[in-house]
Amino acid sequence: MDVFEKYNLNRVINASGKMTILGVSKVSDGVVLDQKIGGQSFFEMSDLIEKTGAYIAEKLGTENATIVSSASAGIAQSIAALIGEGDHYHLMHPYSDKFTKREIILPKGHNVNYGTSVELMIQQGGGVVVEAGYANECHPEQVEMLINEKTAALFYVKSHHTVQKSMLSIEEMVSIAKKHQLPLVLDAAAEEDLVKYYQQGVDLAIYSGGKAIEGPSSGLVIGKDPYIGWIQLQSKGLGRSMKIGKENILGLTRAIEEYLTYGSESGQSMIERLEPFIEQLNAIDDVVATIVQDGAGRDIYRAKVDLNNLEFSAFDMIAALKKGSPSVYTREYQANNGIIEFDIRSVNKDEMDEIVKKFNHIIEENK
Ligand SMILES: *Cc1c(COP(=O)(O)O)cnc(C)c1O
Repeated sequence: MDVFEKYNLNRVINASGKMTILGVSKVSDGVVLDQKIGGQSFFEMSDLIEKTGAYIAEKLGTENATIVSSASAGIAQSIAALIGEGDHYHLMHPYSDKFTKREIILPKGHNVNYGTSVELMIQQGGGVVVEAGYANECHPEQVEMLINEKTAALFYVKSHHTVQKSMLSIEEMVSIAKKHQLPLVLDAAAEEDLVKYYQQGVDLAIYSGGKAIEGPSSGLVIGKDPYIGWIQLQSKGLGRSMKIGKENILGLTRAIEEYLTYGSESGQSMIERLEPFIEQLNAIDDVVATIVQDGAGRDIYRAKVDLNNLEFSAFDMIAALKKGSPSVYTREYQANNGIIEFDIRSVNKDEMDEIVKKFNHIIEENK
């Protein structure tokens, strides 16, 4: 009996993109193989963490790296590391008044909710959030004017979740950090480039293991020493509640290797896979399907399906697609314009056929 039957779980087709609520992404057979070896072997855990980190750093050409349980854990532990600076009293007492240098400055427009808030993860690490600028603007001077003897680090979020306009660039943040000799932490959780920001001069860059890298539930922090070592030390402090298992340490390492070798799927490949799907959708009466590029201009292509000629709304269609098994999740951002989008990065040919079948069925039922 498979787990779907055993626990009476809904089967899900994820045409919405990389969503934490659906389990983010699927891992490759190679990753599963290394997870199996990890799960069925013993290791000296600190050895495993240090050596996989060093291996990843070598592949990326960075000074060091370390695997953590999630990007969120990476944020909390990076902040704790930079406040404690390897101090062993701090390790067990990260919120003690003895440590007064704990202000973390970030652009106000970067303090976003990605499922939880950037602010809460900084606070969990013992940081005091200091927002620079306004919701819709942050200039380098607005960051600099907040730097004082209590500043522990600067923080920047590279994400489509943040305010994009009138925000200082990563390069500008790097020059402020260098000028004031402060470490700069970058939350690049969903970003695809694993080396660019490090090369631009960021001290610690944090990635989510399950997003672009398509690894298991995990996170990655790449960056400089002694910071990485201080993060690893957190496993004996607040990092213990964010422990990652050996199977996922090995799974993520393998996923990074595969990601660096094969990269993510190209837009051209997505277009080729989308063409028969679009054709099948257009064969349905009153449905108009086209291929569109990602709104932010990334090399991602999706099926845009216009339902304005139908009797019922895009909202009804979205709800009907989610109902029953398989439950189909789509991109809903344009539903008020009568449009739904399908992101096929995690959808194979058989699943696309199932989507078309379900689509047809829903339309028949509502005639
Ligand atoms: C997804 C995301 C995170 C959190 O990643 P997890 O690995 O799920 O903890 C943090 N910051 C941003 C900007 C994200 O998009």
